[in-house]
Amino acid sequence: MTPFNYLLAKDADEASALSISNTKAKFLAGGTNLIDLMKENVARPDTLIDINKLAAFKSITEHEDGGLRLGALVRNADTAYDDRIQKRYPLLSQAILAGASAQLRNMASNGGNLLQRTRCYYFYDTATPCNKREPGTGCSALGGYNRIHAILGTSENCIAVFPSDMCVALAALGARINTHCVQGGRTIAFADFHRLPGDTPDIDNNLRTGELITSIDLPAESFNSHYSYLKLRDRTSYAFALVSVATALSLKDGLITDARLALGGLAHKPWRNTQAEDFLKNKEPNAKNFSDAADIILQEARGYEYNTFKIELAKRAIIRNGLTAANLQKL
Ligand SMILES: Cc1cc2nc3c(=O)[nH]c(=O)nc-3n(C[C@H](O)[C@H](O)[C@H](O)COP(=O)(O)OP(=O)(O)OC[C@H]3O[C@@H](n4cnc5c(N)ncnc54)[C@H](O)[C@@H]3O)c2cc1C
Ligand code: SF4
Repeated sequence: MTPFNYLLAKDADEASALSISNTKAKFLAGGTNLIDLMKENVARPDTLIDINKLAAFKSITEHEDGGLRLGALVRNADTAYDDRIQKRYPLLSQAILAGASAQLRNMASNGGNLLQRTRCYYFYDTATPCNKREPGTGCSALGGYNRIHAILGTSENCIAVFPSDMCVALAALGARINTHCVQGGRTIAFADFHRLPGDTPDIDNNLRTGELITSIDLPAESFNSHYSYLKLRDRTSYAFALVSVATALSLKDGLITDARLALGGLAHKPWRNTQAEDFLKNKEPNAKNFSDAADIILQEARGYEYNTFKIELAKRAIIRNGLTAANLQKL
């Protein structure tokens, strides 16, 4: 085991300052991803900065713009079962409950969910080259067994997917992420938070050193009448998505007035295509229109040796989930 120090931060400033003074340190929330990575020797922080005492990160509150603010340390289960989330943001509740297991959701925090790392087998296997784990060593998945890998937004350096379910719903809802840092906090639009692999697959997101996620803002528009999260996977529980789709619609007089479509399991970040959403506006919510929207989303999809099936699977998932969201078909 690699020895490490443990520090319990008393407030956000202390946590942020400790992280800036030691770039080998990591924040510890629920530990459900970080501790696993440490056990596998994939993550080797020399210090864990435990942020679990930061009371300001632990609540769900009303936001002045009519939405809700989710504390970064609120557990995934407490978020999914919160009355306000279930009534106003059922898409988010559905997506969270599609992930992991009850025990894991009890520990996993909202902030940690956004920052969980890929489940690429080679990333976890320290005997194999991996540009995400050891930049410059190569990508074992490109010529290897790449069944679970990405078909959108890939690069020649990495074809990993981001595994979160919760984040697919947050992308569809257009959430915002609030941060704290002794050098200045900010608000980041969800679409700008996670990164594509490009030349730097080792960097998953745009958080800066010393920056903590404090909360996630859900906009007032909650899409609580027409929504659906569909997760397709090898087992029906306790497995990551091969393809997932979060669909949220506003309907009036039989036509779509607003549409949100976000996809999981297909790219290095939750995948949202506003061109496809715009295409659906003022159209009927039928199979043909969802199929055409899927073609827009998937026109640049590229399959690798073992994952080409995801292109057709994603198309069918988009159609089926669109009809479900419109209440025209049961999930
Ligand atoms: C067996 C298994 C199955 C799973 N299945 C699914 C699934 O189907 N779907 C799914 O979505 N997820 C799944 N998960 C992942 C799970 O949701 C994540 O592990 C969890 O959300 C991470 O949250 P955490 O609080 O435990 O994070 P931690 O492990 O504590 O931290 C993760 C990372 O986030 C950083 N961090 C945490 N909080 C903050 C903060 N506030 N500010 C800045 N940095 C922070 C940490 O430094 C670390 O780098 C699964 C996990 C396991 C182990
Ligand atoms: S896909 Fe990304 S994470 Fe997987 S081996 Fe290649 S570089 Fe590593």
